[in-house]
Amino acid sequence: MLEQEFPDIPLIGEEDPSVLAKNPDMRQKVLGLVQAQVDVSEKDMLNAIGRGSGTDTAPYFWTLDPIDGTKGFLRQDQYAVALALIKDGELQLGVLGCPNLSLDFDHPEQGNGALLYAVKGEGAFLQPLKDGEAVRIKVDTDPGNARFVESVESAHSAHSVHTKISDALNIGGDPLRIDSQCKYAVVARGDVAIYLRYPRDDQYREKIWDHAAGAIIVQEAGGTVSDIFGTPLNFGLGQTLKDNKGIVVTNGIFHNQTIETIERIQKGDL
Ligand code: AMP
Ligand code: MG
Repeated sequence: MLEQEFPDIPLIGEEDPSVLAKNPDMRQKVLGLVQAQVDVSEKDMLNAIGRGSGTDTAPYFWTLDPIDGTKGFLRQDQYAVALALIKDGELQLGVLGCPNLSLDFDHPEQGNGALLYAVKGEGAFLQPLKDGEAVRIKVDTDPGNARFVESVESAHSAHSVHTKISDALNIGGDPLRIDSQCKYAVVARGDVAIYLRYPRDDQYREKIWDHAAGAIIVQEAGGTVSDIFGTPLNFGLGQTLKDNKGIVVTNGIFHNQTIETIERIQKGDL
């Protein structure tokens, strides 16, 4: 659909059709599922999946993660469908579908899913996936409510470092742990004040499609996004955020303090 609407805008994503090319049974299964939603030939389906493997970024490009938080998806927990538009390394718009996200964290049983979106300079919005109007969302800047969120998967970030940071910042309570860019969603709508992603592996570079949509939504909701050194994320360098290490997302109020705390931890002062 993106190709039909915007044929000149390339796409960068994680998926490529090589597994399906080698496995006819799986290919048939996937084709059946896709054809239940849209009228498409096998060739066009494989082309659509392969579209994301390009590296063309001029002048605009999309980045798409069709299922971010695969582990959460498999657990029937949180996952996200994440799309963003980037121009000259800068985020222009982001859309985040969070099909299992509760609309009210105190009442998870009422979680019918949410669509969040933001356009640069125009604010961030949340639209319930079932009923209801889109509402403008803002981060929560009340320090008394501060809590942080991290990945469920401990392989994706250093939970022990996060504990040190939250202790130093005097943030009470257990961390919220959820999969996918739904972590950006809960910062943007003010459920938590901080999302920490301190790298476990020094060599790992974050993928652009894991952060682009969430980052612009938090920024447009009044929050701040950077890497662990406070450097802004550069989305114009291909598939990875190769100039950045780890991710720190806050309601804005906590940002400098969080980056300073990380510096102290790295120096061995904490
Ligand atoms: P999350 O659901 O936030 O834990 O993150 C899911 C994303 O983590 C996946 O989409 C992967 O691209 C990414 N990922 C995979 N390995 C690592 C790693 N070693 N460090 C950080 N992120 C990773
Ligand atoms: Mg992902």
